[in-house]
Amino acid sequence: MTRKFVVGGNWKMNGDKNQITEIINNLKTGPLDTNVEIVIGVPAIYLAYVKSIAPSNIAIAAQNCWKAPKGAFTGEISPAMIIDVGCNWVILGHSERRTIFGEKDDLIAEKLKHIEFLLRLMVTMLCRIRHAQTGFYASKIIILNLRIKNILACEKFEDEKLEELLNQDRCQALTELGKTLQVKHALESGLKVIACIGETLEERESGKTEEVVFRQIQALVPAIGDKWNDVVLAYEPVWAIGTGKTATPQQGRKQTLHPGVSRDNGTSFPDIGDEKPIVHQSAQDVHAALRNWISTNVSSDVAAQIRVQYGGSVTAANARELAACPDIDGFLVGGASLKPEFVDIVNATK
Ligand code: PEP
Repeated sequence: MTRKFVVGGNWKMNGDKNQITEIINNLKTGPLDTNVEIVIGVPAIYLAYVKSIAPSNIAIAAQNCWKAPKGAFTGEISPAMIIDVGCNWVILGHSERRTIFGEKDDLIAEKLKHIEFLLRLMVTMLCRIRHAQTGFYASKIIILNLRIKNILACEKFEDEKLEELLNQDRCQALTELGKTLQVKHALESGLKVIACIGETLEERESGKTEEVVFRQIQALVPAIGDKWNDVVLAYEPVWAIGTGKTATPQQGRKQTLHPGVSRDNGTSFPDIGDEKPIVHQSAQDVHAALRNWISTNVSSDVAAQIRVQYGGSVTAANARELAACPDIDGFLVGGASLKPEFVDIVNATK
């Protein structure tokens, strides 16, 4: 199956009207490969403006949205509002939302309110299973159980415990749950979603890349339901975003680092005795592993059609080599999407 290459720009909190007009004019001049889908993630306040000046072959995305249609959520925007100003994409789960701006705290606080509801729902569903014995309820309960298995022990969270909990597994489960709700609501509202996943440097260095991205994608599966056509996955290793470092593009080339052997930056692994060597996977390796996971856990059709973007310090200089990898179906580009070189990145498969 051919997957249309899809390149996203993530302007983050950059640009004013003059700069934005200049960027759009540069894209209009292009020339841009007409076989590539282009989606620009702009600051919320400029969504309508960019929509009004961008050519029709460039789709516009919000960089985040809330998980409810309206209400008392000061500072948030809803999928309905994004659609109302003529845009039809949203980027969700970007690591900067969680790690830099403290969204984790907000999400956790929000999700804590949901725990009691979820527990009650679980009990209700268990009762129904007993009566109805249907696979539908059984599968729902398993999903819910996966989400909250790590938090069942904590019936009540005290405010002062939040900081401590941030470092524990159960909070990852909560964060994933919140992201899931955002994705679900955005898709149900008619938006297309670029869903970001990716491991931190610490996770990569302890050999947990696959474990982390599989957990993140697992959390998204129930939210996506049958709307896989409206989703693009963005694999964005957190350590590669805005750092100038990229996951090596070469397919199949795994860098095996043994205890005591120097890393690229000259530091050494601690002595970890007989533990397994750590395998640093290339971008292609992780993309292929994700596709394989989707094939096993969702379906081979979805695995064949889902587009997986790579994000993390993509530039005109490395885009061609990355684009040549068979499981890399596009890019999510931060810094370089503000520069004229974005045109070359869009054209990387030409
Ligand atoms: C991003 O913001 O999603 C990103 C990948 O940034 P950068 O290209 O600057 O690393």
